[in-house]
Amino acid sequence: MSRQSLVKKFQDVVGVENVFFEEADLLTYSYDAAPIEQVMPGFVLRPVDSEVLGKAIALCSDNNLPITVRGAGSNLSGGTVPDPGGVVLLTTGLNKIVELNQEDLLAVVQPGVITAQFANEVEKVGLFYPPDPGSQAISTLGGNVAENAGGLRGLKYGVTRDYVMAMDFFDAEGQLVKTGARTVKCASGYNLGGLLVGSEGTLGIYNTVTLKLIPPPQDRRFMLAIFESIHRASETVARIIASKVVPATLEFMDNVTIRAVEDFSKAGLPVDAAALFLIEVDGHPGQVADDAETVRRICEEMGARDLKVATDDRERDAIWAARRAALSSLAKLRPTLVLEDATVPRSKTPVMVQAVDEIAAEFNLLIGTFGHAGDGNLHPHDSC
Ligand SMILES: Cc1cc2nc3c(=O)[nH]c(=O)nc-3n(C[C@H](O)[C@H](O)[C@H](O)COP(=O)(O)OP(=O)(O)OC[C@H]3O[C@@H](n4cnc5c(N)ncnc54)[C@H](O)[C@@H]3O)c2cc1C
Repeated sequence: MSRQSLVKKFQDVVGVENVFFEEADLLTYSYDAAPIEQVMPGFVLRPVDSEVLGKAIALCSDNNLPITVRGAGSNLSGGTVPDPGGVVLLTTGLNKIVELNQEDLLAVVQPGVITAQFANEVEKVGLFYPPDPGSQAISTLGGNVAENAGGLRGLKYGVTRDYVMAMDFFDAEGQLVKTGARTVKCASGYNLGGLLVGSEGTLGIYNTVTLKLIPPPQDRRFMLAIFESIHRASETVARIIASKVVPATLEFMDNVTIRAVEDFSKAGLPVDAAALFLIEVDGHPGQVADDAETVRRICEEMGARDLKVATDDRERDAIWAARRAALSSLAKLRPTLVLEDATVPRSKTPVMVQAVDEIAAEFNLLIGTFGHAGDGNLHPHDSC
């Protein structure tokens, strides 16, 4: 079939306004958020309902056109880099929260719903959806599921996989497949949904996803621990975890990151500190008080220069927003940013921090390291 005939067929199925095929439009969809590789697709389609999504997939299958699904395109793993001349299926038009069920503590969503908007809607009905990737202001739930996204709260609350109860998805020919259940107990059969989570769009295209919601913590306390020594700071992580306190978040920033973030966000971070931790404990008020006291004691014993406790949500939110801007802030330092995402057993965090320091010194690199220290997951970023 000629390109022109294909465009016409796509327009008939998806609507003229939802088919893009000019070079200037296609360019936007030729990469992910780590633009190492750029490949031009042949067409971009933006279905706005399930039926159209299924038909568009079937049409691609009939014409042997490879499909790349794309939410916000914020992944860093090449997941949205298309096949040359293939089809990019945009999910941004599939953005409805189909159901928010307060009795069964679940939500049914289309894949293009924005993560932070969803979390806000959930909060409005007094429930909690914990997965909060740093990109939550733009990322989609479909992208989160396909990347099994973690976030700042992963230490205590887990990753996206832990909240997927069921889904229906289209296979490569446009057939709808259902898996999972709305029930808490769903123990029989293959865990097909489990396989689909983290599959980066390679096994099927989610049509709707059913997500588990939980009651929110009754109380929380946010602390900023400031250190003069990066090594004492990284050893503090292991001490906190070994003390059997599980903070909701335990985020680390080294001096390079602190300076870049402060320059970008003006949140009042101490630019002379070697490292800092953003620590939040949450739960029952009594537990929060106990955990906060344990964290305070450990930070003091480990030589923290200061431990600031946020007095209100505004102060806390400003610092969290600054942390979420870490990647963008480091990206501004130099033309190229090479980002890493490495995880070690939590007790080995100090070894990793030391190794990154040694590599930076040996090769004369500017490396900013931040990340989910409580998970042993750090992101050393090399600016060059
Ligand atoms: C500043 C920044 C901070 C980040 N912080 C984090 C973080 O804290 N934790 C983390 O895990 N990641 C993080 N990321 C990476 C990224 O944001 C996440 O992976 C996010 O889940 C991607 O969502 P998206 O909507 O942008 O998906 P996209 O990038 O559009 O797609 C991601 C993958 O999902 C697939 N996909 C999308 N929709 C569907 C669908 N309906 N069916 C099947 N497959 C689909 C795509 O094909 C692709 O393989 C960050 C990225 C940036 C730029």
